[in-house]
Amino acid sequence: MPIATVNPATGETLKTYDALGDAEIEHRLATAEAAFRTHRTTSFEERARLMHRAADLLESDAPEIGRTMTVEMGKPVKQARAEAAKCAKAMRWYADHAEELLADEEGAKNDAEDSGASRVLVRYRPLGPVLAVMPWNFPLWQVIRFAAPALMAGNVGLLKHASNVPQTALYLEDLFRRAGFAEGCFQTLLVGSGAIEDILRDPRIKAATLTGSEPAGRAVASVAGDEVKKTVLELGGSDPYVVMPSADIDKAAKTAVTARVQNNGQSCIAAKRFIVHTDVFDAFAERFTEAMKALTVGDPLDEGSDVGPVATEQGRDDLVELVDDAVEGGATVLCGGERPDGDGWYYPPTVLADITPEMRIHHEEAFGPVATLYRAADLDEAVAIANDTPFGLSSNVWTRDEAETDRFVRDLEAGGVFFNGMTASHPAFPFGGVKRSGYGRELSGHGIREFCNITTVWHG
Ligand code: NAP
Repeated sequence: MPIATVNPATGETLKTYDALGDAEIEHRLATAEAAFRTHRTTSFEERARLMHRAADLLESDAPEIGRTMTVEMGKPVKQARAEAAKCAKAMRWYADHAEELLADEEGAKNDAEDSGASRVLVRYRPLGPVLAVMPWNFPLWQVIRFAAPALMAGNVGLLKHASNVPQTALYLEDLFRRAGFAEGCFQTLLVGSGAIEDILRDPRIKAATLTGSEPAGRAVASVAGDEVKKTVLELGGSDPYVVMPSADIDKAAKTAVTARVQNNGQSCIAAKRFIVHTDVFDAFAERFTEAMKALTVGDPLDEGSDVGPVATEQGRDDLVELVDDAVEGGATVLCGGERPDGDGWYYPPTVLADITPEMRIHHEEAFGPVATLYRAADLDEAVAIANDTPFGLSSNVWTRDEAETDRFVRDLEAGGVFFNGMTASHPAFPFGGVKRSGYGRELSGHGIREFCNITTVWHG
């Protein structure tokens, strides 16, 4: 994949970049190692000061960097600006909480005595340079949710961003530099995915985090495993959205639209499979389909657009194949389902019903504005359909019945269960999945501790 900005709304190549050569990669690795030696010794107060400055800069850059993201990957520009604002909030949250999240933990006196110690404590120390391999779909947010905790913990970062968002990738390096972080604390590596193995095997890289597809996660994790380096993987998702009879159906249908088409349908935590109790199936299906049809699909730079194009030509081809396969297998198209003519990689909001396990879309991730509808006879069947997927990122359930709530929390195979709302990440709460959606957690105290050396300090 060339490293280039290609506008998905037109298909036009706007800017191309040469990949870094071996000598440049070596220089950046050496710079990262040198930066870590100093950065690890800085105080939380100093790191927080710089992180707040970076957040302020990002906030004031939001209109400009928002536009850049939209031109690189096609998200509606108002959502791009909101992404920048969300990043600033996460940066401030970590700036304000890192010290407390990583504070020494004093062991209980009786446990210390039992081990023959006068005192035992646990200290969270940084690991070193961490490689971050990131996707294009939230080109700022995916990086910031790694970088803010990593830098606050005293680690330094090297970013290999997706090849179609090079301008956003370079902006991020510049942002941390302008904020005052020392040279080498956060660097962007403009390289293709073929360069990752050698970089990851370099002894100066201590760990890796990858957000992206399952094949990319597997490739990076196998190399890291071979090198015995820690990884966090945030991979694909095909989240269920369960609607039970006690739900507010109007609200559930309205929220379902946003949950499915946010970011042009290209979000790992988008609700993708809508599993509706038979008693309310028709009412939900009708409202949901009408609202999907009413969306404005158009130029993502236009403030009035709800849905822009799919980010890449390949991405749209994949979506077309998934929908065609389902339709050939007997799925009913309630709306959309046709590839439009014209420039750009647009795809209409689509709702498919009568899905069977033989269809690819039943077990693969639809990365675009395509929803599948399932009818469930009861709670047991709803849970069974929800879990009948290789993924386990998050899940959504609409019910006002307390007893049902407990059952869903007990039985859904996912890293999150969101009731009467849609899944969204927040800096204070852990984010991540089970099954093929990956392992490890980002955000919250759990996220910042992933790349720490959890050190037992024992005093005789
Ligand atoms: P992708 O093709 O896997 O790319 C993600 C990153 O991995 C890019 O930087 C890519 O570089 C790199 N990469 C690809 N193959 C690689 C390999 N063999 N070795 C090393 N690096 C490799 O995914 P995407 O299309 O950008 O993003 C969509 C996927 O990400 C979806 O499955 C989505 O659900 C998932 N996602 C998950 C989360 C989460 O938090 N769980 C969040 C967002 C997205 P190139 O661009 O150079 O190929």
